Amino acid sequence: MADTINTEAISGGLKAVKIIRCLVRDLFELLSDGTNFNSSSLSNSENGCISSLNAVGGGNAVAESKEDQFVSNLQTIIASLNSRIRELESSCTLLAHSSSQISLNLGNSALLGQDPAFERSLIYSSMITSYRWCDKMLEYATHANTILSQNSLKRSHFNSLTNATLAMNRSQFGQPVIYRRKTMGHNYSAPQVDTLCHLFQRHFPDMTLEIVRPFGANAVLKITLERVLKAVIVLRGFIIEWIMVKAYHEEFEVENKYNHIDIWSESRYEVFRKVTNHANAAMLHFYSPLHPDLAVRSFFQWLHSYSSLFSKPCRKCECRLQDNLPPTWRDVRNLEAYHELCRP
Ligand SMILES: [Zn+2]
Repeated sequence: MADTINTEAISGGLKAVKIIRCLVRDLFELLSDGTNFNSSSLSNSENGCISSLNAVGGGNAVAESKEDQFVSNLQTIIASLNSRIRELESSCTLLAHSSSQISLNLGNSALLGQDPAFERSLIYSSMITSYRWCDKMLEYATHANTILSQNSLKRSHFNSLTNATLAMNRSQFGQPVIYRRKTMGHNYSAPQVDTLCHLFQRHFPDMTLEIVRPFGANAVLKITLERVLKAVIVLRGFIIEWIMVKAYHEEFEVENKYNHIDIWSESRYEVFRKVTNHANAAMLHFYSPLHPDLAVRSFFQWLHSYSSLFSKPCRKCECRLQDNLPPTWRDVRNLEAYHELCRP
C-alpha cells in the first residue's frame, strides 16, 4: 500500500492507551478500597496524579480527612483519565484514513468494526483494503483485455479471448457452440510463396533473397541486406515463424555433409543480437491473420530500413553511438532509427 502511516500518531495513541489502562486500574482499586485505601498500594502511573495521597491520623477528623482524601484522589484520577482520553481521540483523528477510503461504504459490514472481539475489529479495514485491490485488479484486467483483443499475439488454434466470447453463443438446442478460430496465412502453396518473394526481390533490389526448403514445404529465406547484415526467416505459408540476424561476414550454413542451415545460434556481436530481438518483436507486431501477405511485406519494409544500421544517427539524441551501440531499434510506423533507450 502506498498510503503513508503517521507513526507519531500511532505511538502517541499507544502511549495514551497504556496510561489510560493504568489509570482505570487505579480508579477501580481506589473504588474497591473505598475510604480504607492505602496510598502506597496505588501505582504512580502518571507523575503527580496521585501524589497528594497521604495517610493521616485517627478519630473523626481522620475519617473526614480520609473521605476528603478519597474524593480528591478520585477527582484527580478522573481528571487525568479525561485528558488522556482526549489525547487518544486526537491521535485517532490523525490516523483517520484518507477521503477515498472513507467514501467506500460497505453497508452493514461497517458494524464489524465495532465488534468488541479483538480479532474481528480489524476485519472491516481489511475488507476495505481487499475491495480497493479488487477494484484495481478489475480495472487493470479490463485494460489488458482491451489491449489484447486489439493486438492478438496468439497464433495457435486456441485463443482464450475469442473462445470465451464466442462460447456465449448457443445453438438452437441450447448447447454452447464452441467455434475454432481459423488460422489463416499458413495454407499457401510453395509457388505462391515463391511469387511473393520474387516480388519483394524486385521491390528491394539491394536485398538479396534466397529461398531454400530444408524442412519440406515451408520456406526458409536467406536474406543479405547490402553489406550490413544477413538474416534467415523461417516461413510457414505467409506467416513468419522465426528470425535470426547476424553480421554480414557471419555464416548460417553448417559445414557438414548435409550442409544444413543453423537457424538457432546467435550472432557473436551484441548489435545483431539486439536487432534479432527487435525483429522478433516486429514480427509479432506486423502479424495479421487476415492479410498475411501484407504483414510479410510490411515486415520486409521494416527490415530493409536496417540498411542504414551503422550510418543513421538516432532520431532523439542525434548521436550515432550509445553504450558503444548504434541505433538498433527502428520505429515500426515511420522506420526512424532510435537507440534502445531513446525509444519514444
Ligand atoms: Zn539515441
